[in-house]
Parts: sequence; structure tokens; C-alpha cells
Amino acid sequence: MPSAAVTIPQMLEPSTPVQFVKGIGPKLSEVLAAKGITTVDDLLHYLPFRYEDRQNPRSIAELQLGEMATLIAEVRNSGLFRTRRMPIFQLTVGQARNRLKCIWFNGAYLKDKFQPGQMVALYGKVEINRGELQLVNPEFEILGEEEQADQKAAESLEVGRIVPIYESAGQGRLTSRWFRRTIHRALEELTPELPEAIPAAARKRLNLPSPREALWKVHWPDEGESLHDLLASRTPAHMRLIFEELFFVELGLELKRREQKTRTGVAFQLNDRVREAIKKILPFHPTGAQKRALKEIASDMEKPFPMRRLLQGDVGSGKTLVAFEAAIIAIENGFQVALMAPTEILAQQHYFSARRILEPSGYRIVLLTGSLEDDRKREIRRHIAQGNAQLIIGTHALIEQKVDFAKLGLVIVDEQHRFGVMQRFKLMSKKTVESTTTRAGTGTPARPVERSSATASGEPDVLVMTATPIPRTLALTLYGDLDLSVLDEMPPGRTPITTRRVGDERSKEVWDFVRKQVVAGHQAYVVYPVIHENEESELKAAMKMHGELSKKIFLDLQVAVLHGRMDAELKEQVMRLFQQGKIQILVSTTVIEVGVDVPNATVMVIEHAERFGLAQLHQLRGRIGRGAAKSYCILMTGGKVSEDGERRLDALVRSSDGFEIAELDLELRGPGEFFGTRQAGLPSFQVASLIRDRDLLELAKREAAAVLAGPNSEISQPEIDRALWQMRTRWQKTYGLVEVG
Ligand code: ADP
Ligand code: MG
Repeated sequence: MPSAAVTIPQMLEPSTPVQFVKGIGPKLSEVLAAKGITTVDDLLHYLPFRYEDRQNPRSIAELQLGEMATLIAEVRNSGLFRTRRMPIFQLTVGQARNRLKCIWFNGAYLKDKFQPGQMVALYGKVEINRGELQLVNPEFEILGEEEQADQKAAESLEVGRIVPIYESAGQGRLTSRWFRRTIHRALEELTPELPEAIPAAARKRLNLPSPREALWKVHWPDEGESLHDLLASRTPAHMRLIFEELFFVELGLELKRREQKTRTGVAFQLNDRVREAIKKILPFHPTGAQKRALKEIASDMEKPFPMRRLLQGDVGSGKTLVAFEAAIIAIENGFQVALMAPTEILAQQHYFSARRILEPSGYRIVLLTGSLEDDRKREIRRHIAQGNAQLIIGTHALIEQKVDFAKLGLVIVDEQHRFGVMQRFKLMSKKTVESTTTRAGTGTPARPVERSSATASGEPDVLVMTATPIPRTLALTLYGDLDLSVLDEMPPGRTPITTRRVGDERSKEVWDFVRKQVVAGHQAYVVYPVIHENEESELKAAMKMHGELSKKIFLDLQVAVLHGRMDAELKEQVMRLFQQGKIQILVSTTVIEVGVDVPNATVMVIEHAERFGLAQLHQLRGRIGRGAAKSYCILMTGGKVSEDGERRLDALVRSSDGFEIAELDLELRGPGEFFGTRQAGLPSFQVASLIRDRDLLELAKREAAAVLAGPNSEISQPEIDRALWQMRTRWQKTYGLVEVG
């Protein structure tokens, strides 16, 4: 105890900015901010990625060949040796009379690191060289460099216990050791009053320690804690932190889901007339899965609260038809439907299909795209506002912009995987609501499209379609605010796609094959990887490819090019010609990735297939195999393919099952990448991992539901209130504007 107890040290709160932790000034706090660490709480959730068992450091004399050993010893001497192949750094350490050599291959960077007399902790594998034991490339840490006063404490953090190892930050400026000491200090100064927001019953069921204990032990495990559990993030402390994070995300989603059911929506009528109208449009017998999905959607639409449903189905499973059926329900009830696509090409595509399928029944369909003349746009907007247009198709951007609907009843959002969770929230909250509510104020007649009136009118229903085959557990949890319908059955009459992989030295054979297919009356795609459509050099390569194919290899055939930077009208024209079979070979960037539907196209050649992600390749391949004729996907690779690349291509050759591919993709790339890019706005997790922690995700979902089920013998109202309050605080912090519940 310090004798002059004049200042009571201010305790750190979880929300305290990190720069108030001793040892972190404004400079370092900037470095930390780059890592996403801005508060004490963030710092304490910066978990070790590994632990080292330094409880029982060995003595040199006891070392056994082949074991992983921790050793504390004194530096005797060191030096850099240059062999013909590489520089080798050699360090000799000692304990009393015993000596041990450590070597690092390519160790030039260690040249001036060690001084004789320093104490070092070493961790590595004991190997043998010329009859002598030595450590090869060991992990090391120089001990006791810190301020004299702190030395004892610092040393005790580094030896004689299980020691946490952190990823360094700021290009190595903040070392593992720095984090160890700083986090230790923060823990010591942390307020003892950490609120407990997980209900007692859940804590008991899962055997979770208190927040304070969890934070301490995840950084500073007890003596004898299982190293295996630590490395697997499965100690009670780890489980607590992971569960906590998932629990509050799930609580937010679940609350949102329930709260939606208390709002006023439109209760559509589903009578015989509506059923007849649906039957009338069907060009073929729906699959069992389509029937089931429609039933689920229709039953939602009949209910008086707004539908929030995700329709998930692999590429080609027939989502569009289901969407059109839902549209008919709304239109027949006198409401308008907005169908939003992620790209203009896709909007265009839907417009074609809609006209083919729905116009014969007299439905009035409009396409609202950015490339339209202003006058035309204005006219279309007027049709929408007056209720003349019944199905409005466009891109998200367009429809989200102040479109004034006469009577919007259903919003269909296509291919949601291009968009983020956050975007979805925004979409579903304000905008659509406003567009219906403002109508009262605009004074436009709301009735002309009405044929029968639904009972109440409120927020429109929302149906989100995604082709991303998200594993079910993830779908249920990440899209926990939506109800889920799955199309798990392909329409009949498909022949499986044959997928082959060839090196580009065999391109001649490939082009010969393409020619054969085209001569037989089919069409082909040649896809070129242009990841950044606005990167000149990449686009150039694709254009060169097009030149080569159209002017040399397929001189006698109709070859066209399609890419994201083309003028919208031209894109549209190219798509139409391809659809009509007037273009035989379409050289394209990934703009055709989603939704394009030309059943006569039977070949797809993907150039530099190794550069694409797995999910993307699967999406691309889904453009073929849509008709009765056999289809072929040829994955061309150029140059060396990485190990992950090999696995991706392999998976594609072997499987055409989107769910299987999704699982593998998830493993290979991690969920961040899997769902598109970072911008996809997935909830990003501090300590949880969607792959590792799927079991906890399900538990979290269950416990969240228990909270929302209301008080009972297990859970009290104050506990529920605490959990909800904590949840709101976290959502506010993580997602900013998004309001939950
Ligand atoms: P998705 O949008 O799910 O990728 P689409 O809705 O574009 O799939 O449908 C793919 C193709 O299958 C289209 O050509 C469509 O006309 C056809 N199709 C859809 N449902 C059926 C069905 N029940 N029977 C036969 N063909 C169908
Ligand atoms: Mg589609």
C-alpha cells in the first residue's frame, strides 16, 4: 500500500477512451485506433492469439530432443553468419555453467538485438545439430527492459505462468509485450463494478464467469488452465466473451423481428380470384420448393403486420417466378410492387421476364433506370405516383430515391448478397415507410389501381431474394430479423453442368470446343476477371481479349463485349441481342454474375479462373445449365495457382451444390470475404468467429429468445431490462445510426 494516500486513482470504465490508460498517449492511441481500439473495453477485448506455457521453464540441462520448451536464460554472445545460402543468426545463452545455442535462419534482422547479460525467455522446438541440442527459430522475448521500478512486476508477467501472446500493431511498434503490460495495467485499474447483463439462468446453463473474471482470465489464465482449451478459445473466460458478443447481436435481431410483428402492415386477401390470377401466369409447374415458398410468403402477406422474409435459393432455383407470384397477390389487392435489383442489367433482365410473364394478364409494368432521359423519368415517376404503374422495376438506388408511390404494398429486393446487412436495415426502416405515408400528404388519388381493398394499410411487405447459399445456421442467425424460405430443389429438366479445368496453354482446344457448340446453335460466355471496373489496365486486358476473339479466332461469328463501364443503353442493347440469339459469343466481365438468364447459352469459359472467389465462380457458372441442353464450364488458369486457388477450382470441378461450396468458401476465406467484401456491412465481431463459434451462435440465439419471451420463474423483469439496455448500447456503438427495438 502506498503510504501517502492522497490521490485515489481514478478507476477506468469500459467506455473510457484508451488514451487515459497509463502508458498510452495521444500518439499511441492513434496507432490503436487504426486497429479499432478506441476505448478501454476495446483494449480489453484485444485477445491473445496464442498462449505460451512458461509456468515451468526448463533448465538447459533437462532439455529433451524434440520437445517444445520454454527457457529463461542469460545472453552470452551472438553473431551473424553468412552461409552460401542464407544469413544465419546465432545466439548463445547460458544458465550457470550450461550453455545452449539458438539459431535463426535468415536472421539478419536480429543482428543488433541482444546484449550480453540480458535475460531472455525462449520458446521453441529442441533439435539436434552435430550432436549438440539447440533451439531453431525460437520465439523469444528480452526480459526486464522496462522502467526500473516496474521491473519486478513486468518480469512476473513474462515468466512462471501461462503468458498471453498478442499480435503486434503499428508496424511492430506495439509489441506483444507492450500489449501484455498495458492490458495488465488496464485490468488492474478497471472499475470493479462491471455490469452483468446476461441473465443468471443463461449464465448458469453455460457456466459463464462474471465479466470481470472473464476479462482477467482470458488474458491471464489461471495456473494449470488447459493449454488446449486456451488455444481453442474454449475456456470459460473465452466462452463468456464470445457468447456475450453473439448474444447481444442475436438479441437485437430477434427483437427487431418481433417488433416488426407489432407494426401495422397490409393484410392482403388471398381469395380464389387471386389464386386464379397466379395460376394464369405460370409458364410451367412450380417445383415443390417453389410451392412451399409461395405458401409461406402468401401466409405472411395475409397477416396484418409487415412481412420480412428472406427467399434463399441457389442460382437457377427459380426465385423470380416466386417473386412474380407474390407480386400478383399485391397487385390484385390494388397495391403497387417495387422490384429492386442491384444492377441496371439485372433490372433490365427482370423487366424482360416480367413483361413476358405478367403483361399477358394485363399488368402494367415500368422500368425506372438511371440511363433514361430526364423527361421519360419524370413521366414514369408520374405514372408511379398516380398509381398507373403496378410493378415498378429498377435499381436500388433509383427506387430508394424519393419515388412517390401511390400505394406501395410489396417491396422485392433481389440478390441481396451484393448488399450489406446495414443497407438492408436502412432500406427496411425509413424509406419504404415514408414513401407510403407521405402519399397521404401529396394529395394524389390512391385508388386507381385498386380492384379489391385490403383490410388495413400500413408498411409494405418486404421480400429479400438471395442467391448466396448461406449455410442454414448462419442464415438463421445473421438474418435473424427475417423469416426464411429456402428453394432447395432445382426445376426439372436440367442436365448437370460439366466443369473442367485447363491451363491456358490449351486455349486453342477450348476455342475449338466453343466453336462446335456455337455451330450447333448454342451460345457462349467468355468471362474475364475485371475486379475493379474502373481500373483502366484490367479493363484493357478484357478489351484485348475481345479484340482477339472477335477479329481472329471467331472472325465469322457474332462476338460482343459487355462491361460495367459501358453506357447503359449500349449494355441493354447487347443483352437484348444476346437474349435473342443474335450475339453468339459474349465476352464479359463479372457484370453478368447475377441473374442473367439465357437458357440457350451452354458454354462458359472463365479466363484466369484462379483470380475469382469460390462463391463468385459458382454464381458465374449459374448462368449456364439453364436449359435442356448439356452445358460446360471451362475454368482456364494462367500461371501459377496458389494452394487456396487449387482448392477453389477443385471444389468447383467436383461439386455443383451451392451449399457445399458455400461451406468450403466459408472455411477458405472467412465470413467477411464470403459475404462479398468488407463493405457488405456484416456485423463484424470483436472476439467471435462465425466459423469457430457456430455452436455458440445457436446457443446465443436460443438465450436471446428466452429473454424476449418475458419474465418467468427463471428470468426477472430487471434482468430483461438490463439485457435490452446493454444490447441497445452495443448496437448503437457498433452500428451507429441503426436503431433497434
Ligand atoms: P434464380 O433467380 O433463382 O437464379 P430464375 O428464377 O432465373 O432462377 O430461374 C432459372 C430458370 O429456370 C429460368 O429460365 C426459369 O424460367 C426457369 N424455371 C423457374 N422455375 C421453373 C419450374 N418450376 N420449371 C421449369 N423451369 C423453371
Ligand atoms: Mg434471379
